[in-house]
Amino acid sequence: MKITHPYENLNGGSWLRGNLHTHTTNSDGTHDMQNVINTYANLGYDFLSISDHDIFTGLTEYEKIDNKGLVLIPGNEISKDGPHLLHVDGDRLIEPHVNRQLVFDEVKATQGFVVVAHPNLTPNFNFCSIEVLEQWTDYAGLEIFNTIVRRLAGSPYATNKWDMLLSQGRRLWGFANDDAHFWREENRQPGISDTGVGWNVVYADSSTPEDIVTSLQNGRFYCSTGVVIKTIKVEGLEIIIECENASRIVGITRNGQRVALSDNGSIKVDVSKDENWPPMSGYLRFECWGEGEKNAWTQPFFLDE
Ligand SMILES: [Zn+2]
Ligand SMILES: [Zn+2]
Repeated sequence: MKITHPYENLNGGSWLRGNLHTHTTNSDGTHDMQNVINTYANLGYDFLSISDHDIFTGLTEYEKIDNKGLVLIPGNEISKDGPHLLHVDGDRLIEPHVNRQLVFDEVKATQGFVVVAHPNLTPNFNFCSIEVLEQWTDYAGLEIFNTIVRRLAGSPYATNKWDMLLSQGRRLWGFANDDAHFWREENRQPGISDTGVGWNVVYADSSTPEDIVTSLQNGRFYCSTGVVIKTIKVEGLEIIIECENASRIVGITRNGQRVALSDNGSIKVDVSKDENWPPMSGYLRFECWGEGEKNAWTQPFFLDE
């Protein structure tokens, strides 16, 4: 058995935190772009992508604005007539073709990558069904956490669909994004803010947009709603995860089955041990649970024969 994973050679670079899904007054957000950038800069983020509905925000727009130290990544949310897709680091607007596979094909032929947004939004928890996700090819991953779905119908989490796809052998990354719109922010209960709730922590060789995007595309990141992972390491057939503030870490394999658990803030799993039941196969990923709703999710480690 061999472990294939995105966390090789984590040295010489640094962990950078960012959000890839934000709206402004250019579509249905309530804050203008500068205001949105100020908000995320004040939260201590390193990178941000503005992703308005079917409106592309690229380098030309970013040049007109004070980035407040943030690395700004081009983006838009393909929205009309179908499931919503984030086009990250594109160089142009891609038409929201009803046949979404045409979107993936067009992105593949140009620049950037696609992340499926909030699959479990709406009262049927099925804004993007598993059947549709199974049909599509050439997307990088899906939002396994979307902040604003906490105040909308459906579930902010979509690890169920992620596990189903991973179990079929798909190699897809999980993303956590705010999808901030800032609607009626002032009337909200504490703890239901649109901002600074779900983010991606990327290991990048430098803080240039190119290095951040390359790491995102290669899955060299974990996503978080507050738990900090300080070590992700593979030694032979052993996977080691250490967190700063997790009270429980669980290891999840094919079909969402739990195969490992630790309550001391770190976990070490030998994937070659065949006494595990259920047996580990296909992939192993980790959820790190902390206080309140804090969580972190690693990307999958693929177990190749
Ligand atoms: Zn959306
Ligand atoms: Zn959105």
